[in-house]
Amino acid sequence: MSLLKEILNHNEQFVEKKEYETFQTDKFPDKKLVILSCMDTRLVELLPKALNFKNGDVKIIKNAGAVIAHPFGSIVRSLIVAVYELGAEEIIVVGHHDCGMSGMDPQRTIQSMKERGISEDTLSTLEHSGINLHTWLEGFKDVSQNVAHSVSIIQNHPLMPREVPVHGLVIDPGTGKLDVVVNGYK
Ligand SMILES: [Zn+2]
Repeated sequence: MSLLKEILNHNEQFVEKKEYETFQTDKFPDKKLVILSCMDTRLVELLPKALNFKNGDVKIIKNAGAVIAHPFGSIVRSLIVAVYELGAEEIIVVGHHDCGMSGMDPQRTIQSMKERGISEDTLSTLEHSGINLHTWLEGFKDVSQNVAHSVSIIQNHPLMPREVPVHGLVIDPGTGKLDVVVNGYK
């Protein structure tokens, strides 16, 4: 059975048995908080449990590495929407140890692209259009530094209200233990 079929079969049962009832809430975060974290599989359930969040408590934005690639990209836009439209009053950036984005080798990724059918022509066209794939695919070396950097971009963003505390944490993807990198109240 395909994965999609499996999902749809489960979903039919889920809705039929009204298993959604325990998750019902609204779009406004009860804890008035928005979190930016990483898409890592180990954090899917661990992150909410380790921080004591249930459905309805927080807005969660995720990408590879909790990286803010552009101050006017979709991550910052989501944060802005959470703050201005959805009642979030604090922001926490949660990076994690052993992040896939900390060991990124752009050259290796580009090699994989070639092996999977992306032509030299395409890569060359991008390069000549001013797109530096190496920079674009580059991750970070130190997770704490990356978290502090993301916090700094948010804190200093021209459209972010100054009174919004922005915290930075690093979570252990094995134990869920948190370390504070930036305390936004200070
Ligand atoms: Zn990660």
